[in-house]
Amino acid sequence: MADEFPFELSPMFEGERIRKDDMHIELAGPKSKGFELVRAAEMDEITDDGYTLIGPELSEMKEGERYPFAMIYKIAGSAVEPDLEAIVERRNHDFQNYISGLMHLNQRYDIWLRVGKDAIEKGLNSFEPIAKATMMLFKNEMPFIEKMEALYITDLEEIEKRLPDVEAIYKARDARTRDLHDEDVDTFYGCSLCQSFAPTNVCIVTPDRVSLCGAINWFDGRAAAKVDPDGPQFAIAKGECIDEIGGEYEGVNEVAVSLSQGEYSRIKLHSFFEYPHTSCGCFEVVGFYIPELDIIAWVDRDHADPAPNGLTFANMAGQTGGGKQVVGFLGIGINYFRSPKFIAADGGWNRVGWMPKRLKDRVIDDIPDDIVDAIATEEDATDLDSLKVFLTEKKHPAIAALKKKEAEKAKTEAKKEAVKAAPAAAPGVVPVAGAGVGIGAGVAGGSAGIPVGMPLPIAAASPDSGIRIILKNAKITIDQVIVKQIEDE
Ligand code: SF4
Repeated sequence: MADEFPFELSPMFEGERIRKDDMHIELAGPKSKGFELVRAAEMDEITDDGYTLIGPELSEMKEGERYPFAMIYKIAGSAVEPDLEAIVERRNHDFQNYISGLMHLNQRYDIWLRVGKDAIEKGLNSFEPIAKATMMLFKNEMPFIEKMEALYITDLEEIEKRLPDVEAIYKARDARTRDLHDEDVDTFYGCSLCQSFAPTNVCIVTPDRVSLCGAINWFDGRAAAKVDPDGPQFAIAKGECIDEIGGEYEGVNEVAVSLSQGEYSRIKLHSFFEYPHTSCGCFEVVGFYIPELDIIAWVDRDHADPAPNGLTFANMAGQTGGGKQVVGFLGIGINYFRSPKFIAADGGWNRVGWMPKRLKDRVIDDIPDDIVDAIATEEDATDLDSLKVFLTEKKHPAIAALKKKEAEKAKTEAKKEAVKAAPAAAPGVVPVAGAGVGIGAGVAGGSAGIPVGMPLPIAAASPDSGIRIILKNAKITIDQVIVKQIEDE
């Protein structure tokens, strides 16, 4: 059947990249408009294998140009239910990448495709074989889809007309997990789809943590695992909770070991720094630590300019992706910003210092009132200096915490300097003044009874290497102290 298409069709083309020089045309993407959507329908509402195009055909498109592009698939079957729409939709990415000469990136309203020059030379001049091949793969790999129909749109006006409704559908899907939380369920869901390019990626989907690609929430995972238990989405018995704030569970750790081929043994679902979730490459947003200000900042795919650390989303995505646990970087789905457990282990929103305005506006209703104005965007700060000024002016809690840490550090440094500058103690074993307890071999047990703040001179091997220890608020029990000189070799 695959012979009917003017291109090869195989999973081996999944990693194929079409660079600008090899590209015939670009479809949707950050500089245009588009979306992909799957809707469940009744059997009698669908013309099986039907295909319609609204707008210009591939053969009418000029080489090197960019065009808007949307794909809507209707599916039906006795086991098909609306809960399955998101996971079916997510597979469009896989199946279209099986097509030699076609590159599909991202999901939902972020889709970005390229048709290669090679494909055109081999005779591809219409979107119809792309739609038909995609539907054939869907039905082969997801047998619960009994009937399927495709509508492709390349007309900008038509896409713009439909976009608000489509966005409302995504929003309604995302809203479903609002009142459900990790502690309310015994089962989480895993997804291994991205292991084709990120072999150690371990995607865990919970009520409080949407997938990195943003396309699969807990309900979607549950529906997928139910209809196809051996498929890429599967149930995870969450097991005992090891860290409630960080979101560490026995069952997740077991899956981490097996899915990452032993590369990782622990995952904390709501932690940025300690055993963070792995990042495959499909994430909608990348988080990055700014050590100079001790804050976490976020940048999404649509923000092309550099973040205040001087790096773009593309720069940081390369560093973050690949299925690794990268401390200091974290890929997430946009809906995770709406989670009450959003990076709970690291201070949640109080640790967030910068994000692009467009992204901030999208999630603004979920940012706590007391911090929302203190989170900078590119309109407030574009580099570290201006960011520090903004956060200081706005009394951002992370800056207050940073100042406290810096003051403590300065105090510690000053103490170290004072110790260095203090005169060395005389050599030999010195009794503890006022304690009535000698320091040296064979001191009897019991409290040393050293007064608070008492400087405790200790014998040194030589006057030049003398040390001085100051104990404050200390209660010490000493059985024996042996002071030895280490001979230079
Ligand atoms: S990002 Fe995660 S949930 Fe989304 S397709 Fe990849 S593995 Fe699955």
